[in-house]
Amino acid sequence: MSYICLICGAEVDVDLERNLIQCTKCGNRILMKPRPPALKKRVPAI
Ligand SMILES: [Zn+2]
Repeated sequence: MSYICLICGAEVDVDLERNLIQCTKCGNRILMKPRPPALKKRVPAI
């Protein structure tokens, strides 16, 4: 499972079983789940 670091924007692989949720680039612990692209709204062209 990969999350996005809110500070540097890096994609971080987290280990939820070991509770390792930390960006290895900047050490930040505030990560967010990337939104699945299927949820993007599409609008038709005019
Ligand atoms: Zn980071």
